[in-house]
Amino acid sequence: MAVLICGGAGYIGSHVNKQLYKEGYETVVFDNLVYGHREAVKWGSFEQGDLKNISDLEAVFEKYPIEAVFHFAAYAYVGESVQKPEKYYYNNVANTLNLLQVMRKYGCKKIIFSSTCATYGEPEKVPITEDMPQNPINPYGFTKLAVEHILKDYQKAYGLEYVVLRYFNAAGADPDGEIGEDHNPETHLIPLVLDAAAGKRHDIKVFGTDYPTSDGSCVRDYIHVTDLAQAHLLALEYLKNGGQSDCFNLGNEAGTSVLEVIEAVRRVTGLDFPVTLTKRRPGDPAVLVGSNEKAKAVLGWKPEYTDIDTIVRHVWKWYQTG
Ligand code: UDP
Repeated sequence: MAVLICGGAGYIGSHVNKQLYKEGYETVVFDNLVYGHREAVKWGSFEQGDLKNISDLEAVFEKYPIEAVFHFAAYAYVGESVQKPEKYYYNNVANTLNLLQVMRKYGCKKIIFSSTCATYGEPEKVPITEDMPQNPINPYGFTKLAVEHILKDYQKAYGLEYVVLRYFNAAGADPDGEIGEDHNPETHLIPLVLDAAAGKRHDIKVFGTDYPTSDGSCVRDYIHVTDLAQAHLLALEYLKNGGQSDCFNLGNEAGTSVLEVIEAVRRVTGLDFPVTLTKRRPGDPAVLVGSNEKAKAVLGWKPEYTDIDTIVRHVWKWYQTG
């Protein structure tokens, strides 16, 4: 049997592909390469295709005996989702319906879905637990929440088995330096700070210094991509062992401020660079930190690379190879 990784040429998907392959799974990556990179698919088989084409999906299910699907294929630029909601609802929601339709046709019952802490919107308190209200504040968050609802309904009606994984701030890179983050355009904090350290951009801008946090900058829960990948493996094993369909937060349960990330980059690289303090970026909650108790208790997950310097060191190692 094989596992299908939709969006496996992207940042998180490529790390999951490596982890599954290392564990002995036959992996098949399906990706349209709009944002993904062919060279990130270093393990298993690769099939280029688009979720909007049912025939592309059917061809893959005809060719391989797919026992489970990992679904990473989505657009994830929050700002763009506000400008172009149609693009996001079609790709992230309608195309997921295509995937589920083809899974049903071929009797494939297991799916592990990439969701996000953005489904919680502005949390009432932190750390955020899975039972807290989900009130997204942008179309991207709504597309992910919509799919969560679809999965629940398909579970009841069609016996689909799912695990929803709500990521906090995915960060880091493969500790072996074989793959890493490669977004174009890049909007994420750590790669942008490294660009400033490497002199590829003039400065790093800190979006907001008047938040109610210890140093006034936003606090996020940075979680290493290899720890995320391990959680996906555990989620598949959980379903294969008869686990109930469920949702789990994946974070470190630790908050790091923007200014602390900048300090970590200075320590790790030994480089200094200009930092510009600017106004808040619209739509940024002050603090997002997730409880990871449930994933630890139910999936047996234990994040390994929890320290921000280690996370930054792995990105820096990857950065220097490119
Ligand atoms: N951020 C920043 N400057 C940048 C990019 C991001 O100050 O150039 C801040 C952003 O406001 C947020 C944190 O860094 O508080 C993490 O942002 P990122 O875009 O990496 O992830 P997000 O939390 O939006 O998913």
